[in-house]
Amino acid sequence: MRTSYDVTIIGAGLAGLQCARLLARQGISVLLVDRKNSLDQKIHTTGVFVRRTLVDFDLPEDCLGPPIKHVSLYSPALRPMELVSQHDEFRIGRMGQLYQRYLQQCLLAGADWLPQTSYLSHSAGNGKITLRLSSGSVITRYLIGADGARSRVARDLQLEQNREWIVGVESVFQGAVLDGPPRLLCFLDPKLAPGYIAWIAHDGEETHLGVGGYPSLFEPTTALQNFRSRVDDIIDLRKAKQIESRAGFIPVGGVLKNIANSTGMLIGDAAGAVSPLTAGGLDPCMRLSAFAARVVTEYLSTGDAAVLQAYSGELFRSRFASRLWARRIAATLRQPQLLEFGCALLRLPGFNRLANHVFFGRGSFPDVIEPLGPLERLRYSAR
Ligand SMILES: Cc1cc2nc3c(=O)[nH]c(=O)nc-3n(C[C@H](O)[C@H](O)[C@H](O)COP(=O)(O)OP(=O)(O)OC[C@H]3O[C@@H](n4cnc5c(N)ncnc54)[C@H](O)[C@@H]3O)c2cc1C
Repeated sequence: MRTSYDVTIIGAGLAGLQCARLLARQGISVLLVDRKNSLDQKIHTTGVFVRRTLVDFDLPEDCLGPPIKHVSLYSPALRPMELVSQHDEFRIGRMGQLYQRYLQQCLLAGADWLPQTSYLSHSAGNGKITLRLSSGSVITRYLIGADGARSRVARDLQLEQNREWIVGVESVFQGAVLDGPPRLLCFLDPKLAPGYIAWIAHDGEETHLGVGGYPSLFEPTTALQNFRSRVDDIIDLRKAKQIESRAGFIPVGGVLKNIANSTGMLIGDAAGAVSPLTAGGLDPCMRLSAFAARVVTEYLSTGDAAVLQAYSGELFRSRFASRLWARRIAATLRQPQLLEFGCALLRLPGFNRLANHVFFGRGSFPDVIEPLGPLERLRYSAR
């Protein structure tokens, strides 16, 4: 291992791994650090990937479960509404396997990997950054915080920090019995999942049963137990084996504005890059990390700090305006009768389109494709 790197990335979740492998493939020396001993431990995502991510990125086939086209949306009184897409809309990632695969790709591209190591602090001066890690000190030219929703790196870099969260908890089963094709089942219930949904994600091989909501409004573990009893008639878990429990914070305040400076930047949940409405963060991880890798590559090769101005949450935030409004409305919907009425409306032909749009729409994290600075422009014009 070296003692000095071009880039150090704190956090080897999907955002950190995606950024590390792209930077290392550009020949940049990268150190990837995570406090976990192994990446298949303490996973906190259900891992549902949407069609747009599946189409645009090279997710390895064997790290994905069978495709899902069907969604059942349940009202508080458990009245279902069925939605079916013509396309394969979702696949549940086998996340431990996927993280390990991406890590292998990082190592193959030349990145160094430091597991079981916590980021503690950093100091910057004379054009270099000294990182204090639980295993010792490292020098780096640039620091990337991919350390999740409650990012310590964001705080230390004096960048913006997430302030609005929901929490999610889920149990993962094998051997659950659910009639019909693989499906996502979403339950609107302000007691079990205040401000969000309870869910069953079932692809025929794995089943995830979870609840999410504002932490001040419910007790997630109790809500999960109650949810399990409530869906007794819908899914048979008697012979199922629970293989994992997962839980975590999900930032829902929208992508943060101030996410980069000349010392470092934020990606993934640390940057608030999660859809405020659906709480999906995996597609934003892939896209924002790819953009971050382009910006950092350009910045390191030109030394031009102006390039970093392109990496601003302002660029993306306006694209989330409607979803931020929808989130604010969702946060206030606490009466079951109101949600029941809303679900009845959604069954009407015109409104039905809205439900289809939320579940099957292609809107996700925006891509930035314009060249950033002189070097990128040169590369583009040479094509
Ligand atoms: C219950 C739940 C279900 C979800 N389901 C979905 C879903 O189905 N589809 C979807 O699109 N999104 C989902 N999300 C959101 C999605 O999982 C996240 O947006 C995404 O995983 C964030 O990835 P990340 O790499 O930014 O952060 P993380 O995956 O949180 O990775 C951060 C990494 O940083 C490490 N770390 C943190 N602090 C330090 C430190 N000081 N030193 C060293 N390492 C550190 C952690 O160990 C961790 O490995 C879900 C979230 C939750 C909580």
